[in-house]
Amino acid sequence: MMSEKGKLVIISGPSGAGKGTVIKKLLELCPNLKFSVSATTRAPRPGETDGVEYFFLSKEKFEDMIEKDSFLEWAEYVGDYYGTPRQPIYDNIDDGHTVILDIEVQGARQVMQKEPDAVTIFIVPPDIEELNRRLRGRGTDSEEKLLARMERAKLEFKEMNKYNHVVSNDIVDRAAGEIIKLINRKDR
Ligand code: 5GP
Repeated sequence: MMSEKGKLVIISGPSGAGKGTVIKKLLELCPNLKFSVSATTRAPRPGETDGVEYFFLSKEKFEDMIEKDSFLEWAEYVGDYYGTPRQPIYDNIDDGHTVILDIEVQGARQVMQKEPDAVTIFIVPPDIEELNRRLRGRGTDSEEKLLARMERAKLEFKEMNKYNHVVSNDIVDRAAGEIIKLINRKDR
């Protein structure tokens, strides 16, 4: 049994910054970390599994969960709902695990208010060209969604100063190493 409570870590950053890859690396390096699996109404991308990357829900089911106050936070992003199921987070923190939330800026703002001790990290791509390349390289979004994500990225950059730390995802291993140090610091 672990006695100390775990921390809550919010990771945000524009779509295409490579958050997902950095988080995967973090989870590989630190078995004590738990990823908070969000719910979403967007369709799964090839290779995504229900319950692993996300819980893929219908709009009705998602709205039912909003109604039942099952989310710590939720937001609309480029035409879909995304939300963080509340209970698993507190169960994991009580068990001593540090929990990682991969959420966009509106949701992050809600969690910062409710959980002021959360460690907040904003991941940026090394440059904007790289961000566009990564988004296009994914090859799963329609042109319209792609443009919406790029527009959205510009807005998200403006929120960067609300976070405790900004980490550049120049090299995944380096970025993950930096984040581990930030999480382990006694202050935020
Ligand atoms: P994607 O569709 O690329 O997986 O995610 C789109 C955006 O939604 C990303 O910025 C991601 O961080 C954010 N996101 C994922 N899960 C959640 C969530 O539970 N709540 C909020 N507010 N944003 C989320």
